[in-house]
Amino acid sequence: MSGPVLYLDGVSVVFDGFRALNNLSLVVDPGELRSVIGPNGAGKTTMMDVITGKTRPTAGTVRFGDHDLTRMDEAAIANLGIGRKFQKPTVFDALTVFENLELALKAPRDPWSCLRWRLAAGARARIGAVLEEIGLAPRAGDLAGVLSHGQRQWLEIGMLLMQDPELLLVDEPVAGMTDQETEQTAALLRRIAGRRSVVVVEHDLEFVRALGQKVTVLHEGTMLSEGTIDAVQNDPRVIEVYLGR
Ligand code: ADP
Repeated sequence: MSGPVLYLDGVSVVFDGFRALNNLSLVVDPGELRSVIGPNGAGKTTMMDVITGKTRPTAGTVRFGDHDLTRMDEAAIANLGIGRKFQKPTVFDALTVFENLELALKAPRDPWSCLRWRLAAGARARIGAVLEEIGLAPRAGDLAGVLSHGQRQWLEIGMLLMQDPELLLVDEPVAGMTDQETEQTAALLRRIAGRRSVVVVEHDLEFVRALGQKVTVLHEGTMLSEGTIDAVQNDPRVIEVYLGR
Protein backbone atom coordinates (compact mmCIF):
# COMPACT_ATOMS: atom_id res chain seq x y z
CA MET A 1 0.00 0.00 0.00
CA SER A 2 1.38 3.40 -0.89
CA GLY A 3 0.13 6.57 0.77
CA PRO A 4 -1.86 6.76 4.00
CA VAL A 5 -3.61 3.72 5.43
CA LEU A 6 -6.47 5.85 6.70
CA TYR A 7 -7.65 9.09 5.22
CA LEU A 8 -10.63 11.12 6.41
CA ASP A 9 -11.33 14.24 4.40
CA GLY A 10 -13.90 16.80 5.49
CA VAL A 11 -16.04 14.23 7.29
CA SER A 12 -19.23 15.45 8.93
CA VAL A 13 -21.89 13.44 10.75
CA VAL A 14 -25.17 15.14 11.59
CA PHE A 15 -27.66 13.53 14.00
CA ASP A 16 -31.02 15.35 13.98
CA GLY A 17 -29.33 18.66 13.22
CA PHE A 18 -26.51 18.08 15.76
CA ARG A 19 -23.00 17.92 14.28
CA ALA A 20 -21.20 15.04 16.01
CA LEU A 21 -18.38 15.38 13.46
CA ASN A 22 -17.74 18.67 11.76
CA ASN A 23 -15.45 18.72 8.73
CA LEU A 24 -12.95 16.31 10.32
CA SER A 25 -9.79 15.47 8.39
CA LEU A 26 -7.28 12.88 9.58
CA VAL A 27 -4.39 11.04 7.93
CA VAL A 28 -2.80 7.91 9.44
CA ASP A 29 0.29 6.45 7.80
CA PRO A 30 1.07 2.73 7.53
CA GLY A 31 2.62 1.42 10.74
CA GLU A 32 1.59 4.45 12.79
CA LEU A 33 0.31 4.23 16.37
CA ARG A 34 -2.06 7.20 16.61
CA SER A 35 -3.76 8.33 19.79
CA VAL A 36 -7.01 10.28 19.65
CA ILE A 37 -8.00 12.23 22.73
CA GLY A 38 -10.66 14.82 23.50
CA PRO A 39 -13.31 15.70 26.07
CA ASN A 40 -16.58 13.75 26.33
CA GLY A 41 -18.78 14.43 23.34
CA ALA A 42 -15.81 15.47 21.16
CA GLY A 43 -16.78 12.92 18.50
CA LYS A 44 -14.22 10.16 19.15
CA THR A 45 -16.72 7.30 19.11
CA THR A 46 -18.51 8.75 16.09
CA MET A 47 -15.14 8.90 14.28
CA MET A 48 -14.54 5.19 15.00
CA ASP A 49 -18.13 4.43 13.90
CA VAL A 50 -17.57 6.24 10.62
CA ILE A 51 -14.32 4.37 9.91
CA THR A 52 -15.96 0.98 10.55
CA GLY A 53 -19.14 1.79 8.61
CA LYS A 54 -21.40 1.71 11.66
CA THR A 55 -22.35 5.31 10.91
CA ARG A 56 -22.45 6.87 7.46
CA PRO A 57 -20.90 10.29 7.03
CA THR A 58 -23.28 13.06 6.07
CA ALA A 59 -20.45 14.66 4.07
CA GLY A 60 -16.82 13.97 3.26
CA THR A 61 -14.73 10.96 2.31
CA VAL A 62 -13.25 8.03 4.25
CA ARG A 63 -10.53 5.99 2.56
CA PHE A 64 -8.61 2.91 3.70
CA GLY A 65 -5.61 2.57 1.42
CA ASP A 66 -7.06 2.39 -2.07
CA HIS A 67 -10.58 1.62 -0.85
CA ASP A 68 -13.29 4.24 -0.58
CA LEU A 69 -15.21 3.27 2.58
CA THR A 70 -17.67 6.15 2.44
CA ARG A 71 -20.61 4.11 1.19
CA MET A 72 -19.50 0.62 2.20
CA ASP A 73 -21.35 -1.39 4.86
CA GLU A 74 -19.83 -2.62 8.13
CA ALA A 75 -19.24 -6.25 7.09
CA ALA A 76 -17.52 -5.28 3.85
CA ILE A 77 -15.23 -2.88 5.73
CA ALA A 78 -14.32 -5.54 8.33
CA ASN A 79 -13.46 -7.88 5.45
CA LEU A 80 -10.97 -5.37 4.09
CA GLY A 81 -8.88 -5.77 7.26
CA ILE A 82 -10.06 -3.25 9.83
CA GLY A 83 -10.43 -4.70 13.35
CA ARG A 84 -12.15 -2.86 16.18
CA LYS A 85 -11.79 -3.46 19.88
CA PHE A 86 -14.59 -1.99 21.96
CA GLN A 87 -13.97 -0.88 25.54
CA LYS A 88 -15.44 -3.96 27.26
CA PRO A 89 -13.71 -7.27 26.62
CA THR A 90 -15.94 -9.85 24.95
CA VAL A 91 -13.99 -13.05 25.48
CA PHE A 92 -15.57 -16.44 26.15
CA ASP A 93 -15.04 -17.14 29.87
CA ALA A 94 -15.79 -20.86 29.66
CA LEU A 95 -13.14 -21.43 26.97
CA THR A 96 -9.40 -21.46 27.43
CA VAL A 97 -7.16 -18.67 26.19
CA PHE A 98 -6.03 -20.96 23.37
CA GLU A 99 -9.62 -21.86 22.43
CA ASN A 100 -10.64 -18.20 22.34
CA LEU A 101 -7.88 -17.52 19.81
CA GLU A 102 -8.81 -20.64 17.86
CA LEU A 103 -12.40 -19.47 17.69
CA ALA A 104 -11.27 -16.10 16.34
CA LEU A 105 -9.45 -17.93 13.58
CA LYS A 106 -12.54 -19.96 12.75
CA ALA A 107 -14.47 -16.83 11.96
CA PRO A 108 -12.28 -15.99 9.01
CA ARG A 109 -12.45 -13.09 6.67
CA ASP A 110 -13.00 -15.52 3.82
CA PRO A 111 -13.64 -19.28 3.94
CA TRP A 112 -10.71 -20.10 1.72
CA SER A 113 -8.22 -18.57 4.13
CA CYS A 114 -9.68 -20.79 6.90
CA LEU A 115 -9.30 -23.87 4.73
CA ARG A 116 -5.75 -22.95 3.84
CA TRP A 117 -4.86 -22.50 7.49
CA ARG A 118 -6.14 -25.93 8.39
CA LEU A 119 -4.57 -27.66 5.41
CA ALA A 120 -1.23 -26.09 6.17
CA ALA A 121 -1.65 -26.93 9.86
CA GLY A 122 -0.53 -23.37 10.36
CA ALA A 123 -3.28 -22.53 12.78
CA ARG A 124 -1.41 -23.72 15.88
CA ALA A 125 1.69 -21.82 14.84
CA ARG A 126 -0.36 -18.70 14.27
CA ILE A 127 -2.07 -19.04 17.67
CA GLY A 128 1.35 -19.59 19.25
CA ALA A 129 2.71 -16.43 17.66
CA VAL A 130 -0.25 -14.38 18.85
CA LEU A 131 0.03 -15.88 22.39
CA GLU A 132 3.63 -14.68 22.48
CA GLU A 133 2.70 -11.27 21.11
CA ILE A 134 0.00 -10.66 23.75
CA GLY A 135 2.16 -12.12 26.52
CA LEU A 136 -0.30 -14.89 27.43
CA ALA A 137 1.66 -17.95 26.28
CA PRO A 138 2.01 -19.26 29.87
CA ARG A 139 -1.79 -18.95 30.31
CA ALA A 140 -2.78 -20.71 27.06
CA GLY A 141 -4.53 -23.58 28.87
CA ASP A 142 -6.31 -21.42 31.49
CA LEU A 143 -9.95 -20.48 31.21
CA ALA A 144 -10.46 -16.89 30.09
CA GLY A 145 -12.81 -16.47 33.05
CA VAL A 146 -9.93 -16.66 35.55
CA LEU A 147 -7.81 -13.99 33.85
CA SER A 148 -7.39 -10.48 35.25
CA HIS A 149 -9.20 -7.59 33.56
CA GLY A 150 -5.99 -6.55 31.79
CA GLN A 151 -5.27 -10.06 30.55
CA ARG A 152 -8.80 -10.34 29.17
CA GLN A 153 -8.27 -7.11 27.23
CA TRP A 154 -5.02 -8.49 25.79
CA LEU A 155 -6.78 -11.72 24.87
CA GLU A 156 -9.39 -9.80 22.96
CA ILE A 157 -6.67 -7.86 21.15
CA GLY A 158 -5.15 -11.25 20.34
CA MET A 159 -8.48 -12.42 18.93
CA LEU A 160 -8.44 -9.45 16.60
CA LEU A 161 -4.83 -10.16 15.62
CA MET A 162 -5.89 -13.68 14.59
CA GLN A 163 -7.81 -11.99 11.80
CA ASP A 164 -4.60 -10.28 10.68
CA PRO A 165 -6.02 -6.74 10.39
CA GLU A 166 -4.05 -4.06 8.64
CA LEU A 167 -5.66 -1.39 10.81
CA LEU A 168 -6.63 -1.90 14.43
CA LEU A 169 -9.01 0.52 16.17
CA VAL A 170 -8.88 0.35 19.96
CA ASP A 171 -11.36 2.08 22.25
CA GLU A 172 -10.11 3.03 25.75
CA PRO A 173 -8.06 -0.11 26.33
CA VAL A 174 -6.67 0.78 29.76
CA ALA A 175 -9.86 1.86 31.56
CA GLY A 176 -9.94 -0.10 34.83
CA MET A 177 -6.39 -1.47 34.49
CA THR A 178 -3.68 -1.40 37.15
CA ASP A 179 -0.63 0.82 36.48
CA GLN A 180 1.43 -2.22 35.59
CA GLU A 181 -1.22 -3.53 33.19
CA THR A 182 -1.43 -0.07 31.63
CA GLU A 183 2.34 -0.06 31.00
CA GLN A 184 2.16 -3.56 29.54
CA THR A 185 -0.70 -2.50 27.26
CA ALA A 186 1.35 0.42 25.96
CA ALA A 187 4.21 -1.98 25.23
CA LEU A 188 1.80 -4.38 23.48
CA LEU A 189 0.35 -1.69 21.23
CA ARG A 190 3.86 -0.45 20.40
CA ARG A 191 4.77 -4.02 19.39
CA ILE A 192 1.66 -4.37 17.24
CA ALA A 193 2.17 -1.05 15.43
CA GLY A 194 4.82 -0.99 12.77
CA ARG A 195 3.59 -4.07 10.99
CA ARG A 196 0.03 -2.77 11.34
CA SER A 197 -1.48 0.64 11.93
CA VAL A 198 -3.24 1.31 15.21
CA VAL A 199 -5.65 4.08 16.23
CA VAL A 200 -6.32 4.32 19.98
CA VAL A 201 -9.03 6.44 21.58
CA GLU A 202 -8.03 7.10 25.18
CA HIS A 203 -8.64 9.38 28.17
CA ASP A 204 -5.52 8.42 30.13
CA LEU A 205 -2.88 10.96 29.08
CA GLU A 206 -0.03 9.15 30.82
CA PHE A 207 -0.87 6.09 28.76
CA VAL A 208 -0.94 8.22 25.60
CA ARG A 209 2.47 9.54 26.60
CA ALA A 210 3.73 5.97 26.94
CA LEU A 211 2.48 5.17 23.43
CA GLY A 212 4.90 7.86 22.34
CA GLN A 213 3.60 8.77 18.91
CA LYS A 214 1.44 11.41 17.28
CA VAL A 215 -1.65 12.56 19.15
CA THR A 216 -4.81 14.04 17.62
CA VAL A 217 -7.05 16.15 19.85
CA LEU A 218 -10.72 16.27 18.87
CA HIS A 219 -13.11 18.95 20.06
CA GLU A 220 -16.67 19.61 18.89
CA GLY A 221 -16.31 17.08 16.10
CA THR A 222 -13.19 18.47 14.52
CA MET A 223 -9.42 18.40 14.90
CA LEU A 224 -8.25 20.92 17.46
CA SER A 225 -4.55 20.08 17.64
CA GLU A 226 -2.10 17.44 16.48
CA GLY A 227 1.49 16.57 17.39
CA THR A 228 3.48 15.00 20.20
CA ILE A 229 1.80 14.70 23.59
CA ASP A 230 3.96 17.56 24.89
CA ALA A 231 3.09 19.76 21.92
CA VAL A 232 -0.66 19.23 22.27
CA GLN A 233 -0.63 19.56 26.06
CA ASN A 234 1.08 22.92 25.68
CA ASP A 235 -1.21 24.10 22.88
CA PRO A 236 -3.25 27.04 24.28
CA ARG A 237 -6.36 25.85 22.38
CA VAL A 238 -6.12 22.46 24.09
CA ILE A 239 -5.52 24.01 27.53
CA GLU A 240 -8.58 26.20 27.04
CA VAL A 241 -10.81 23.25 26.13
CA TYR A 242 -9.58 20.97 28.92
CA LEU A 243 -9.45 23.58 31.66
CA GLY A 244 -12.39 25.61 30.37
CA ARG A 245 -10.59 28.92 30.61
P1 ADP B 1 -16.97 10.99 22.40
O1 ADP B 1 -16.78 9.56 22.01
O2 ADP B 1 -15.80 11.86 22.06
O3 ADP B 1 -17.40 11.15 23.82
P2 ADP B 1 -19.28 10.80 20.67
O4 ADP B 1 -18.77 10.53 19.30
O5 ADP B 1 -19.84 9.65 21.45
O6 ADP B 1 -18.18 11.58 21.52
O7 ADP B 1 -20.45 11.87 20.59
C1 ADP B 1 -20.32 13.13 19.94
C2 ADP B 1 -21.63 13.86 20.09
O8 ADP B 1 -22.59 13.26 19.24
C3 ADP B 1 -22.19 13.79 21.50
O9 ADP B 1 -22.72 15.06 21.83
C4 ADP B 1 -23.29 12.76 21.41
O10 ADP B 1 -24.34 13.06 22.32
C5 ADP B 1 -23.76 12.89 19.97
N1 ADP B 1 -24.24 11.62 19.43
C6 ADP B 1 -23.51 10.50 19.28
N2 ADP B 1 -24.25 9.53 18.73
C7 ADP B 1 -25.49 10.04 18.52
C8 ADP B 1 -26.73 9.53 17.98
N3 ADP B 1 -26.83 8.29 17.53
N4 ADP B 1 -27.77 10.38 17.92
C9 ADP B 1 -27.68 11.64 18.38
N5 ADP B 1 -26.55 12.19 18.89
C10 ADP B 1 -25.47 11.40 18.97
